[in-house]
Amino acid sequence: MFDLRKQPHLKYLLQQTLRETVLHYLTSASFISTCFEVSLQILALLSTNSLSKIKHFRLLRIKRIFYAKITKICVLISRNIWQQAYETKRRSKMKLYFPVPKYNGNYKEGMAQFGWPRARGRLHAGCDLYAPFKSDVVAITDGIVVEVGDFYLGTQALAIRHEGIGVVRYGEIVEIPESFYKVGAKVKAGDIIGKVGQVIKISAMVHLELFDGTKIGPLTDRTKGIKYYNDGVKRDGNYQRRADLMNPTKLLDRLLLEGIR
Ligand SMILES: [Zn+2]
Repeated sequence: MFDLRKQPHLKYLLQQTLRETVLHYLTSASFISTCFEVSLQILALLSTNSLSKIKHFRLLRIKRIFYAKITKICVLISRNIWQQAYETKRRSKMKLYFPVPKYNGNYKEGMAQFGWPRARGRLHAGCDLYAPFKSDVVAITDGIVVEVGDFYLGTQALAIRHEGIGVVRYGEIVEIPESFYKVGAKVKAGDIIGKVGQVIKISAMVHLELFDGTKIGPLTDRTKGIKYYNDGVKRDGNYQRRADLMNPTKLLDRLLLEGIR
């Protein structure tokens, strides 16, 4: 006989799946709007049924508290719906670009991918986007410059805070325009922020890094940047980067799909 209690791994997996499903449902727009509708119906019922005719002091008080609670819930729920709608609208309005033209590579393969081993135990802190040498590099969306300066072997790096995405560092680029070579400069989606650089002779590329923006300080951190949080999962790794480093693969997938190229 199959006994789930004797399968701790399977039990754990089932629990996790159930938990995620419930959480997903509780935060979904359809559930919230259902709550809203139900609350409205209760309110409508209350205003017409016998409860509203009760004169007894204690019951009146209970009724008042009940009304207050229902109103509070309604306000909270409608605020939540409004916020969700606003966020969806803002996201759909966001103009997106893929950072390089004539992209010919795969940022999920070999040396180009995030986390691939480098010299002296260091791990690749970003994804490499192969593109023709000195072709334009564009900002993936609107943002503000948060860090700019020299990068590896004569190249430069420009880091932009993109609202709703995080801090994106466009590394191994060259010829950053003077107007963007200062912290605080405003960048528009699709603005040319530099040219594709070349560190090794065989390949020109943009080395792209992503940070969630919850930390402050320099993005390269050789002293302690060894903890990496991959979508909530803590992993050790010598990335030599600030602790809010993220894997940019999903972002790049989205840009390939939705971005202008
Ligand atoms: Zn790289």
